[in-house]
Amino acid sequence: MDKIEHIGIAVKDIGRSNEIFKSLFDKPHYKIEEVLSEGVRTSFFQVGPNKIELLEATDPDSPIAKFIARKGEGIHHIAFAVSDIRSEMKRLEKEGFQLLNKEPKIGADNKLVAFVHPKTSNGVLVELCQERN
Ligand code: ZN
Repeated sequence: MDKIEHIGIAVKDIGRSNEIFKSLFDKPHYKIEEVLSEGVRTSFFQVGPNKIELLEATDPDSPIAKFIARKGEGIHHIAFAVSDIRSEMKRLEKEGFQLLNKEPKIGADNKLVAFVHPKTSNGVLVELCQERN
């Protein structure tokens, strides 16, 4: 794995949270993107070299809605950049990590993504991200 690509934060109301994080970072989000397959609306902030992704559920059955119902708002996942997502998925499976998807899927921000089940990574939901060409 390479660097941290972004940190994902689950929020109830992305409009309201965009204002909160704008005040916190002293700059606005630079884009909003809906990922229909995941039932989420996302917004992105650039803070120095780091990216923060806010996630709001657009579907009551989406993973983000379930997460907020269980744990409330807060840090949802840490995403790591990888150059070859398929080989990284294979490596992690061999190491005993449980992946939440068998094949990479198309995520926000023009990325191929896959998730590691938090029960096999000390409660941390890990996202792998590979840039799509
Ligand atoms: Zn993410």
